[in-house]
Amino acid sequence: MGVQVVSHPLASSMLADLRDQNTPPPLFRLLAKRLALVLCLEATKDMLTMSVEVETPLARAPGARLAQPLVAVPVLRAGLGMLDAVTELFPEVTVGYVGLERDHATFEPSLYYSKLPPLEGRFVLLLDPMLATGASAAAACGELERAGGSQITLLSVVSAPEGIARLQDLHPEINIVTASIDDGLDEHAYIVPGLGDFGDRLFGTL
Ligand code: URA
Repeated sequence: MGVQVVSHPLASSMLADLRDQNTPPPLFRLLAKRLALVLCLEATKDMLTMSVEVETPLARAPGARLAQPLVAVPVLRAGLGMLDAVTELFPEVTVGYVGLERDHATFEPSLYYSKLPPLEGRFVLLLDPMLATGASAAAACGELERAGGSQITLLSVVSAPEGIARLQDLHPEINIVTASIDDGLDEHAYIVPGLGDFGDRLFGTL
C-alpha cells in the first residue's frame, strides 16, 4: 500500500480555503468537488489502458483507451461531496454506497447501509474526505473486500497519521491519495488542524 500526498499549488490553495472557517457551504461544496477532481486524477493514473489506433484528419495515430471498469463508493454522507468529481471525469463509472455512523462515545463506526455493484476486477475509488481514526475507512474497506474488491484506493482530503497507521495495519493493500497529512487527532477524534466536520460544512448543518 502507498500513501500519496498530492502536491500542486492549486490543490494547496483550495485546501486552505476549505480549512478556512469563514468559507460558507456553497463555496465549500465547489472547492470540495474541485479538489476531488485533482485527487481523482492522481488516484487513477495507474488504471489499465489498451492500445488503440485512431485516424486523425492527417494520419493514423497511436493512442490508449481505458480498459478497466471504475467503481466509486462514497461513504455517507461526507463522501457525497467528492462524487460529482468522479462522475464528471468518468461518466461510465458505477456507484455504490456505504453508510457508516460514528458512535460519539467510542468513535467506532457501525454500518447502517451498503449497496455495492460487482467489484471483482474493478478499479475501486473509496470516497471518504476525512481519514481521522481510520475506523470508518477500515470498516468501509472491509465491506468492499467482502464484495470482491481488491484494487481499492481511498481518496481523502485530509488525513491524520493515526488513521493512516490504522488503515495500513488493517488493510495493507489499500492505496491512499490525500491532499494533506495533518498533525493528529484531538480528544473528540477530530483532525487538527483539519477543517472541522466535513459533512456539516458541506451540507450547512453546523
Ligand atoms: N470527520 C470530520 O468531518 N472531521 C474530522 O476532523 C474528523 C472526522
